[in-house]
Amino acid sequence: MVDSGSQGGGDWWFCLKHMKAEHGAGCPNKDRMGPYGSQADASDALALARERNEAWRAQDAD
Ligand SMILES: [Zn+2]
Repeated sequence: MVDSGSQGGGDWWFCLKHMKAEHGAGCPNKDRMGPYGSQADASDALALARERNEAWRAQDAD
């Protein structure tokens, strides 16, 4: 998915190594969740994953 010439100048990722949203090239994609269309989406990724995790654990506990 290498595409130059997009308006935003690259995708947003949530880096699991640095625990923060990153824009464009940087850490290997295997260390990141994404890509996302915006920084907000990338930042939400961790919260969503955590939510999903907790839902799964709650389900499992019952
Ligand atoms: Zn990183």
